[in-house]
Amino acid sequence: MRTSQTLISTLKETPSDAEIVSHQLMLRAGMIRKLAAGLYSWLPSGLRVLRKVETIVREEMNRAGAVETLMPVVQPADLWQETGRWDDMGAEMLRLKDRHQRDFVLGPTHEEVITDIVRNEIKSYKQLPINLYQIQTKFRDERRPRFGVMRAREFTMKDAYSFHLDQATMDVTYQSMYAAYCRIIERMGLAYRPVLADTGAIGGSHSHEFQVLAQSGEDAIAYSTESDYAANIEKAEALALGERGEPAMAMTLVDTPNAKTIDELVSQHGIAIEKTVKTLIVKASDEVESELVALMVRGDHELNEVKAEHLPQVAKPLEFATEEAIRSAIGAGPGSLGPVGLELPLIIDRSVATLNDFGAGANVDGQHHFGINWDRDVPLPTVADLRNVVAGDASPCGKGTLEIARGIEVGHIFQLGTKYSESMNATVLNEQGKATPLIMGCYGIGVSRLVAAAIEQNHDDRGIIWPDAIAPYQVSIIPMNMHKSHRVAELAETLYAELSAAGIEVLFDDRKERPGVMFADHELIGIPHNIVIGERGIDAGNIEYKSRRSGEKSDVAIEQVVSFIQ
Ligand code: ATP
Ligand code: MG
Ligand code: MG
Ligand code: MG
Repeated sequence: MRTSQTLISTLKETPSDAEIVSHQLMLRAGMIRKLAAGLYSWLPSGLRVLRKVETIVREEMNRAGAVETLMPVVQPADLWQETGRWDDMGAEMLRLKDRHQRDFVLGPTHEEVITDIVRNEIKSYKQLPINLYQIQTKFRDERRPRFGVMRAREFTMKDAYSFHLDQATMDVTYQSMYAAYCRIIERMGLAYRPVLADTGAIGGSHSHEFQVLAQSGEDAIAYSTESDYAANIEKAEALALGERGEPAMAMTLVDTPNAKTIDELVSQHGIAIEKTVKTLIVKASDEVESELVALMVRGDHELNEVKAEHLPQVAKPLEFATEEAIRSAIGAGPGSLGPVGLELPLIIDRSVATLNDFGAGANVDGQHHFGINWDRDVPLPTVADLRNVVAGDASPCGKGTLEIARGIEVGHIFQLGTKYSESMNATVLNEQGKATPLIMGCYGIGVSRLVAAAIEQNHDDRGIIWPDAIAPYQVSIIPMNMHKSHRVAELAETLYAELSAAGIEVLFDDRKERPGVMFADHELIGIPHNIVIGERGIDAGNIEYKSRRSGEKSDVAIEQVVSFIQ
């Protein structure tokens, strides 16, 4: 590719709204441009990287026996109503109506659509197991899109779904997806850890996340120095609490004005507490519904969500705490936030309070959140805080000490059991001719997030340093003053043709730019191998080779360039 033919839009200044290095460098190198919050266009060099990652993912999925499909981004609401997730998904799911006023969603994920396909197409156990995947755009109306494509609203995911008659084949496919995810991340040359994870809102029994290690990561993981034990912090916390025999919920349900403990509620109403740590699901009968509607939870642990569900079966989530309830719990008067003495509008969105003039926000799960310094975002917990949460230094497996690292969740695999196949009636006839609900697994990997995660691990103060496997081009040709030197221009053209013919992807800088500008651009864009052509080198029969990663330079004889690069 000639720079004169493509779009090279590098920026000298770091854009002020980009907080983390990958976001800054993707903007500065001209890989992406923001269209609106959480919506990004991929410019030519960025798209080349995205496609490389897609190719690695596709190759490894195919190798693991998964089969590619493609499902629509726009999905009809009735499928989501069948599983109950029309209500469960909340504001993260973007809903729209067509001209006939029928409800649709922009797919945040595709369990419903794939289960619908499988219930129609798969009739017999003989067609199982099957693992279908796609590489497709997802839309999630993230509460706080940030960090560029790392947490976007529209992003590219590879999602795979497997279907089984029995648990034994489910386990085999789960293991093969686990191995495929390891290979994908290893081929990209990234340092990562698979960790045990909670299954969360998606349901199911067994789950791992793949965390690319990075200081900027929004997630934290705990791992043993001497064994395979590794879990994300929520899971580690749950395991540690379980281990100490402590109830995971040492919390008070605040149902103003009379605070009740969970124990009191349990004994009065016979409610069941299903999940703990980050999400609390309170199962209750119809009669106590009203008592749980204005429910707030306060306690030592941060909660992402409080949900109430009916007993016995109908899983209908109730409303989150009302704005009045939250305001009175945190001591904020109408329209302003009392405790810090600021007269600013307080926006309460579900269980999150935001001071809109500062863009700051916090979970409303305890008053102590509100003494923070409002001109910064809520700080991430420190390693010491996290250690406290997971009970000190001892690893739950008894081997080694527990280390805590920050990570970027790039992949997530789940065993879902029969959650979707039962609610959507996806069955096959087993060997005895009896209809049996399918056992299901699902496997997601953030293709666009992987691009950003790779930059977090591969950069220096001059720009991106692409691992060869995902570089937009392998080689750049940087000719010195070729518009003045016929010999330089001729050699540059010859090497460009020869390298291209050898199947090497080359970015040929044929712009009329000063050498300093070219060097800075190529370092920013991060092409691994650079060929510098100048008059003096030609006199000696050489070009200058420079490695982007090591910075080392060496002279290479002109006739050996292609074999040297290969
Ligand atoms: P997160 O915890 O970061 O919100 P998630 O657990 O909601 O992610 P999953 O539902 O497990 O995400 O989706 C599978 C993968 O899709 C994630 O592991 C991640 O790599 C990617 N992904 C999820 N949300 C986003 C997003 N907003 N922007 C980019 N990639 C995303
Ligand atoms: Mg999410
Ligand atoms: Mg997650
Ligand atoms: Mg996840």
